[in-house]
Amino acid sequence: MKIYSPPSVDTLNTFHALPEMYLVLSPSFHILTASDLYLSSTYRSRMAIEGKYIFDIFPNNPDDSGFEAVEILRAALSEVVQTNSANAMPILRYDLEDLSTHQFVERYWSISHTAVFDADGQLSYIIQLVKEVTELVLESNLVKQQKVDQQKSLIEIEQLNGERELMDKKLTKTLKELRETNLYLEEKVKRRTDSLKLSEEKYRNLIEQSPVAMQVFRGEDMVFEVVNEAMLTFLGKEPDIIGKTLFEGVPEIVGQPIVNVLYNVYRTGVPFELMGEEVILERNGQKIVGFYDVIYRPVYELGKISGVLGIALDVTHQVSSQRSLAASEQRFRTMAEASDILISTNDAKGNLNYLNHAWVNLTGWQTKDLKDFDWSSFVHPNERAEVEEIFASALTAHSSFFNEFRILDKVGNYRWLRIKGNPIFDGSGNFDGFICSSLDVTEEKQYLLEIQSVNKALIEANESQFLINEKLQQANNKLKLSEENLQSAFNAGELGSCSLDLKTGIADMSGRYRSLYGLPVDGEITWEMVLKSVEPEFIPEVNKVLENAVKFGSPVDSTYAIRHLISGERRWMRVVGKVNQDLHGVNESVYAVVMDVTPQKEDEQRKNDFIAMVSHELKTPVTSITGYLQVLQRLFKNTGDDFTGSVLDKMGRQLTKMTTMINGFLNVSRLESGKIHLDRQRFNFSELLADIEDEYKHIVSTHNIQFTSSEEIILIGDRDKIGHVVNNLISNAVKYSPIHSKILLSCTKANYTLTFSVKDEGEGIPEEDLPHLFDRYYRVQNVEARNIAGFGIGLYLSAEIIKSHSGEIWVESVRGEGSTFYVSLPLNS
Ligand code: ADP
Repeated sequence: MKIYSPPSVDTLNTFHALPEMYLVLSPSFHILTASDLYLSSTYRSRMAIEGKYIFDIFPNNPDDSGFEAVEILRAALSEVVQTNSANAMPILRYDLEDLSTHQFVERYWSISHTAVFDADGQLSYIIQLVKEVTELVLESNLVKQQKVDQQKSLIEIEQLNGERELMDKKLTKTLKELRETNLYLEEKVKRRTDSLKLSEEKYRNLIEQSPVAMQVFRGEDMVFEVVNEAMLTFLGKEPDIIGKTLFEGVPEIVGQPIVNVLYNVYRTGVPFELMGEEVILERNGQKIVGFYDVIYRPVYELGKISGVLGIALDVTHQVSSQRSLAASEQRFRTMAEASDILISTNDAKGNLNYLNHAWVNLTGWQTKDLKDFDWSSFVHPNERAEVEEIFASALTAHSSFFNEFRILDKVGNYRWLRIKGNPIFDGSGNFDGFICSSLDVTEEKQYLLEIQSVNKALIEANESQFLINEKLQQANNKLKLSEENLQSAFNAGELGSCSLDLKTGIADMSGRYRSLYGLPVDGEITWEMVLKSVEPEFIPEVNKVLENAVKFGSPVDSTYAIRHLISGERRWMRVVGKVNQDLHGVNESVYAVVMDVTPQKEDEQRKNDFIAMVSHELKTPVTSITGYLQVLQRLFKNTGDDFTGSVLDKMGRQLTKMTTMINGFLNVSRLESGKIHLDRQRFNFSELLADIEDEYKHIVSTHNIQFTSSEEIILIGDRDKIGHVVNNLISNAVKYSPIHSKILLSCTKANYTLTFSVKDEGEGIPEEDLPHLFDRYYRVQNVEARNIAGFGIGLYLSAEIIKSHSGEIWVESVRGEGSTFYVSLPLNS
């Protein structure tokens, strides 16, 4: 029967300080002891575990029935007991209970067991060496997977190393004990040494067969001890480098930083890892730059560093693809910055993360301005909702989008943008955001708006044109109607109408016009044909009227005698017309209406003849009476009979009035029949005025008549008739202004023209009467004038006299203030 002999307390105590995780178990799997590192790594105390059944202390994770860690470990331990040999387990997930929370934490372990026998060769205890590999296991990508492999290899090597070290120590101790106790122990030592050799063999094989490039350097000179196939390929060397030093085998490494690293690991024992380190190596005579993850671990022998394990992973591909990614990113930025197109990018969440220079130029915003705010708040409120909707759906669908909207610039103006966004995907096909290109289309938009408003205006104009056309149609209808009315009126009044084209001289005449003049019933009528009918004495006047119309656009109103072109009869025609102007204001035609005024003219003539005859007949007796009166005045002059004298004076004044009136009528009739004769002579107008002044001073005491003295003014004309005009104006002023009011006469000379005026302070003349004041027999019909005697011929005669001297006569009058009559006469005639 086998008797179980447990290890001594000393033996157990030696495990406490070992720098690895050790657990010492009895063959019944009770915990005998554990290294301090084991306790700290599993958060357990020595007291709590020593003497306990291992699976009571480390039970299965009840939450995860998929992992039966206890069963696996128990099987491995049982195998040690049954076979009395060491074993190493594949990586084992064995979740560890956190005693404070009673939660199980996911953990991965590399576990190996070694059986230790007593002097009788009975299993005394089991050494469990544990390494935690949780981190390595959790790494997922290919590179990391490779690292896990490499880590695994490393763990195994270290495991072997550790095992070897442990064995060394154990062996030494055991040998000592054995030497003291049993010679068999030496045999035991021998067995152990063999086993170690086997271990070393195993570790060499492991390295040599590993697909990961590995090598072991030995000693201070870094002699290649083990170099596997993968490492030889990596270095571009042949197996003959084994046994050579690093510098002999790989001379190109001299001076590269990696050498220092290697020596540092050898000297300090601190493992070293370099990720993506650039290394230049010579392969087939060519220098090749590559990037490597390089791991150096110290290799121990009898507790002392004896060499360095080197592992190299070629990551050139990953590094260069990272670098080319960075380079392409840089290229994109450079391109985007130089572009005039607005370029922006958003991340996968839609946040703006880049705006190029063109953006900054246009809007004044920098990426940071828009990043910190909600960028859509810069969009014009009219487009904001639509912009957000389009962007949100493109973000969800990872699809491209297109939009036009206004964005606020830093100055506060809105700019129109046309934006196109395309989704970006990374190498694995994951959505990585948007790249957007935008154009500033503000001017294009404004242009479009202008076109729209022009179009609108055109449509409106068309509509109003339509209305205008309608109105025009209505107006035409009205015009037609009024033309018809006019024609009826013309017909009723026996009026003829004519339009004369002033450019061509061609007259368009109505039938009535033609028949009034005896012109051909149809065919073209020229002005010359019309003139042929006019009585020669009226031709100058008719021409003058036409000339004034053509030159000055003056209205036409002329009455003249014609000789009917067919009957030869003398007829009086009155032509009233108006001048029409073209668009440039040039007089282009005269439109005139003609009426036969022969009956009126004949009536007038009869009246004139009668007045002339009566005046003439009255003149002889009045002249005789005047003579008799003068005789009587002489006879009674010296009698002193005042009464008779004053009666005779009054008779004289009345006779003078009567004579003046008769003379007036005679003059009118003479004027009408063209019998007025001008007796032109050179005379001094100032003298004439002085004579008249003298005369008035004696006969008028009712008014304050003032003469302004003037220089000598020599005039050529009819002295008596011009004197008559001056007398008439003064006597009117006396007649039509209140007693004691002032009458001012003045006379000026300028620009070869004499201007004479008579100003009174009378009632003035109503405006509507002013144009007719110089007409024959015209009198103002107001209350003031009603009681004042007169026939309305004084101003008519005055005007005719002044006109016959090529002068002008006119009046200015303000009601209630008075009137001023002016006469102007040319001085050079
Ligand atoms: P008569 O004075 O004989 O009526 P006139 O030909 O001299 O004829 O004048 C015509 C009209 O003009 C007058 O009837 C009068 O109404 C008006 N008139 C003329 N002179 C004046 C004046 N100085 N102030 C006011 N009215 C005047």
